[in-house]
Amino acid sequence: MAVNSMHFKFVVVGGGIAGVTCVEQLSSEFPSADVALITAASHIKAVANFKKVSHTLEEFDVEERPSSTLQEKFPNITVIQSAVRSLCTDTHTLQTEDGRSVGYKKLCICSGARPKLLTQDQPNVLGVRDTDSVQEFQKRLSSAKRILVVGNGGIALELVFEVGGCEVVWAVKDKAIGNTFFDAGAAQFLIPSLEAQRPARAAVCKRARYTTEEAPDGGGDQRRAGSGPTDTGSALGPDWHEGFLLRGAEESSQGVRVEYECEVQEIFTSLDHLRSPPPPESDYGCWPVYVQLTNEKIVGCDFIVSATGVVPNTDAFLLGNNFALAGDGGLRVDDHMRTSEPDVYAAGDVCSACWEPSPLWQQMRLWTQARQMGWFAGRSMAANVLTQPIELDFCFELFSHITKFFNYKVVILGKFNAQGLGVDHELLVRCTKGQEYVKVVLRGGKMVGAVLIGETDLEETFENLILNQMDLTPYKDELLNPNIDIEDYFD
Ligand code: FAD
Repeated sequence: MAVNSMHFKFVVVGGGIAGVTCVEQLSSEFPSADVALITAASHIKAVANFKKVSHTLEEFDVEERPSSTLQEKFPNITVIQSAVRSLCTDTHTLQTEDGRSVGYKKLCICSGARPKLLTQDQPNVLGVRDTDSVQEFQKRLSSAKRILVVGNGGIALELVFEVGGCEVVWAVKDKAIGNTFFDAGAAQFLIPSLEAQRPARAAVCKRARYTTEEAPDGGGDQRRAGSGPTDTGSALGPDWHEGFLLRGAEESSQGVRVEYECEVQEIFTSLDHLRSPPPPESDYGCWPVYVQLTNEKIVGCDFIVSATGVVPNTDAFLLGNNFALAGDGGLRVDDHMRTSEPDVYAAGDVCSACWEPSPLWQQMRLWTQARQMGWFAGRSMAANVLTQPIELDFCFELFSHITKFFNYKVVILGKFNAQGLGVDHELLVRCTKGQEYVKVVLRGGKMVGAVLIGETDLEETFENLILNQMDLTPYKDELLNPNIDIEDYFD
């Protein structure tokens, strides 16, 4: 065998939360097997302080660690730090950028996803994905007076809230903010938080963070250039903005202006490039970049943050192989996390769950699901080798997510936005301004989803009610009555 040719029983690609969880699972099931983790980044992401909040809700911190810590804990893991250049599923071999050939018996691809940028070659359009790209964002922000944030998912929500000392124009394609997570009612509840004066702070980071020092050879600059769509760093996760002071050039908070129901039509660097010249009375100011929105408005700003979703990182694996891809570009996986290619599994942001899901679960490219999928892929690969049967894990029974938006605790359960229910549902809402927002989705009298914002203390009871599908028709009027202790009620 050539020096740069290696062979392992299990190979996992990607040092994000899915890949690391998968490789740890495999290594603990087969402590004497050869297991390799191939990852492009110098640091891995590890789950720390894992806490089960209820049957399905879980909370954890994420630590960025040198990959050597993985090898110290699991001596049978070899970490290869290089990007995968290509895969040949016929010969079960991967080629890495640094010229190695790595053979496998079973492979799990956990290469994550990258930001879907509005445009590739405009230096004034930034994506936010990993530590380096947040640092680049922070640097550009420090001299900015106005930025445009485009997108309506979790990243945009967190960004607009965290940025201070700079005017933020927020372009959302929907009628309400945060459409990925809430409905218009919840958005209405949160809007005052955007208007309130927010503290200037760089909160203490709960997670250990190892910074990649700028290399004397200019490697740091290369990394910054890589904060765009082809970067291979791991995605950030919960609390990603903690520890970063996100302040613009102005002394005071400049507020957020939301432009609803619009998208970016065109980006240009000079008003001379406008197709039809602006009316003489219009004054757009002098900015490095201008954006024409589909609502006809023109916004001049220092730079644009493109937070319009992600694209699964599949490029290195497709050529010459026969992977079935989902509509969103992810590798299709079945209920054993198997792709369409033999002996190749996938987990996390790179994959698309294509099994018949439980009526209360849907895939969302989130931290928790990356962990659950990575863990289940590891278990499933092990079961295959041991020729043992394995069933889809309970964590895929009910969608559940716990996070923080605008400093409020947010819990979302099941079909929280009545996804796929058409008109066949009923909503119950309780809202106390500045304190809590509770929404319940009922179908046929049974609870199928919920959004809980604030310290509601209802998550466990509601999770149980969703899981046991009790007919709540007789209790509907009392369900959100704040004077009734609902936990006792259903005890
Ligand atoms: P990643 O973490 O992206 O890891 C992919 C790994 O693959 C990396 O190590 C990379 O180096 C490696 N890789 C890629 N290509 C190759 C290659 N060709 N060869 C070798 N290695 C390769 N989720 C939440 O639940 N809550 C949040 O609050 C939240 N906030 C977020 C904020 C931001 C700014 C972003 C970008 C994402 C956020 N997410 C959040 C989403 C969450 O971070 C992702 O869902 C999760 O990290 C996906 O994990 P993963 O392991 O699948 O992929």
